[in-house]
Amino acid sequence: MSTTAKVGVLALQGDFREHCAALRRLGASASEVRTQAQLDGADALIIPGGESTSMAKLMDAYGLRAPLQAFARGGKPVWGTCAGLILMASRLEEDRPQPLGLMNLAVRRNGFGRQADSFEAGLSVCGVPGGPVRAVFIRAPLITETGPGVETLASLESGEPVAARQGTLLASAFHPELTGDSRMHRLFLDMIPSGGAS
Ligand code: GLN
Repeated sequence: MSTTAKVGVLALQGDFREHCAALRRLGASASEVRTQAQLDGADALIIPGGESTSMAKLMDAYGLRAPLQAFARGGKPVWGTCAGLILMASRLEEDRPQPLGLMNLAVRRNGFGRQADSFEAGLSVCGVPGGPVRAVFIRAPLITETGPGVETLASLESGEPVAARQGTLLASAFHPELTGDSRMHRLFLDMIPSGGAS
């Protein structure tokens, strides 16, 4: 029997509540993270979608930048969705925000252009069984480069990578917490050594 891991969700801004709800639907333990002590108590972390500049400002104001980097570099799984992906990148095309530099990704914010600010796509995601995942993109970031060690897990039909993994780090340009389909959350839970859910 596997133990239940504690999954933290960075709760400074954005749709952290929806991620907590998706995790709990799977029987996982989810808790909101706003302090270093709460982060230290987590086995894995989700950085949600929202507004990456606001989230970065709050992260710095709360003194969480270095602890988040240490958490990820120590090998604890981290998953960034949308704005969370932006924060996990090593390089942004824009000057702001300053990302955490966790994954070998170059990213352009709002990279799908104005006409396509929001759209949906059916995605086949490597490691996710059961047919296409309905993916919701909201002013989504575009991954412009993937560096060494990064495996693309899903791409749009037009070829842009939209989900990627680098060891214990996962990133998606879309919002799996908004669709009621928990398979991306299952994929993340399966990356936690102590087991995501019983
Ligand atoms: N466009 C937002 C940003 O640059 C991200 C949008 C989202 O998380 N849905 O931060």
